[in-house]
Amino acid sequence: MPKRLALVAHDAKKDALVAWSKKHSTALADFHLFATGTTGGRLEDGAGLTITRLLSGPLGGDAQLGAMIAERDLDGLIFFIDPMTAVPHDVDVKSLLRLAILYDTPLAVNEASANAILHNLCND
Ligand code: PGA
Repeated sequence: MPKRLALVAHDAKKDALVAWSKKHSTALADFHLFATGTTGGRLEDGAGLTITRLLSGPLGGDAQLGAMIAERDLDGLIFFIDPMTAVPHDVDVKSLLRLAILYDTPLAVNEASANAILHNLCND
């Protein structure tokens, strides 16, 4: 069964996540990929990846990913967070990060840590 990886980016970080995903598209193609709605659309169009799209983050997508982590249905989460902009669904973002910490789910919040997680998930 392919490993299950979720990809999310705040608006100001979507270009960076698309660029990162394009760079790693061969490795990412081996995963079952999930993404919040808008991020998922950008990744399908921009990186040519097949994505299971959830709701948009502000409409519950982050909460859906949190539930997946609690159910042990995700093997990793890459979330390019914008450190400079407040978002309306900050409580959902915090909940998602909290659950990833609680369940010891591999979690990356920027490009450097995404590289580390991808390398790790591909080699274990
Ligand atoms: P989006 O959600 O991919 O639907 O923009 C991302 C987020 O959680 O902010």
